[in-house]
Amino acid sequence: MMKKKIFEKPIITKINAGVPDKFGMQNQIKAITHIDQVAIKDIIAEYGSPVFVISEQTMEETYETALQAFSTRYPKVQFAWSYKTNYLNAVCRKYHQLGSWAEVVSGFEYHKALSNGVEPNKIIFNGPDKSDEDLLLAIENKSLIHIDHFEELYTILKLANTTENKPKVAIRVNMDTGVYPMWDRFGFNYENGDAWNAINRLMLSKKVDFMGLHTHIGTYIMVGWAYGNAAKKLADLAVKIEKKFNHYIKYIDMGGGFASKNTLKGAFLPGTDTCPSFDDYAESITNALIGSDINPEHMPTLFLETGRALIDDAGYLLGSIIGNKRLTSGRASTILDIGVNILFTSFWYDHLLYPAEETSNYTEDTTVYGPLCMNIDVIRESLPFPNMKKGQHVVIKRIGAYNMTQWMQFITHRPAIVMIDKEGKTHLVRKRETNESIVNEELVPDYLQ
Ligand SMILES: *Cc1c(COP(=O)(O)O)cnc(C)c1O
Repeated sequence: MMKKKIFEKPIITKINAGVPDKFGMQNQIKAITHIDQVAIKDIIAEYGSPVFVISEQTMEETYETALQAFSTRYPKVQFAWSYKTNYLNAVCRKYHQLGSWAEVVSGFEYHKALSNGVEPNKIIFNGPDKSDEDLLLAIENKSLIHIDHFEELYTILKLANTTENKPKVAIRVNMDTGVYPMWDRFGFNYENGDAWNAINRLMLSKKVDFMGLHTHIGTYIMVGWAYGNAAKKLADLAVKIEKKFNHYIKYIDMGGGFASKNTLKGAFLPGTDTCPSFDDYAESITNALIGSDINPEHMPTLFLETGRALIDDAGYLLGSIIGNKRLTSGRASTILDIGVNILFTSFWYDHLLYPAEETSNYTEDTTVYGPLCMNIDVIRESLPFPNMKKGQHVVIKRIGAYNMTQWMQFITHRPAIVMIDKEGKTHLVRKRETNESIVNEELVPDYLQ
């Protein structure tokens, strides 16, 4: 006999995909002519096209929303800015001003954080590839070292013999959170006992200050409950450490990975409808921690290393139409001066593309190409778009995460980056590259001179 299905209460969610009118679904695209009251045409006139723009206002508002979500639910909360998400000095310094520590994953980023004036004991050093020199410096600086694997653990114990300072360490833990594929390549696994084994080796060595437990369960995680599962497992480890060693850890670091509101390719509904809010993530994480058996007198500080969800909305990419072409299939296409080499995330997001000036209301299903001489240089395979002329401007929204760090120099210079401050003044925060800045790193052997 067929088993009766469990009743699930219906949920009504607002869909923002559009409302049909008498012509069908509205596909009229509204122009975006200004960012924070600054005219896009003025920005392009001053800094060239294409050009990246960062809104300080949006950075601040998003940060305050995120902080509010966690600090209203948990007594001690500390954010650490994930450098690799966007390590422009202006961006990092803004987050440090707002109170964020630094989260770095290489020696390069570690030194960048130091030169941005971050106190060394407020730098979290993650990642699988830390050199012995990096580790020694981090130990002497009292930075927080998050151990990724056993080789690194043994290296730290060895280095601890050579310096006065006790290394301040945490371990990165990976676990089954119910979201697959599991990110089990970083850190020590919870279920197979590696995490507990690493903790025991460190605690019994008496050579380190065992500060905390860290996880970073993935990126663009679209469900809050996965974080609840992860937090529960870290809390279990904290309780085991209390019981066995009578030691209280100082913090639990839940990493990053919160989804921004971008829409993944192939998604049925826009990301604005499907991605959890900061409140959703905060609810899952803090429920797990306050409901755990951790001694309430010694609640660990909750660290968060969210990157993408903080900066994505603050970033814009402005560009210009190079030309239009009717494809042999009859399809409309347009060519922009924005290639996938500077908009890396176009490989997995359907980015929002808008005209930067008023256009006809008539749109046609259009393929949007970049300027590179490469077939894969496609910004959007298909979107309803008006016919725009050579030299007219476009805006791509929500691109603040990863593009300004993962971009590739290819065929031409990488563009300038501009920050709009809260008074609506623009500041150049990275110059457009020049032939010199690129060729500077090259050497020509004598016999080819
Ligand atoms: C990349 C990274 C982050 C930030 O991830 P987002 O997905 O951008 O939030 C945080 N912590 C660690 C260890 C990372 O590697």
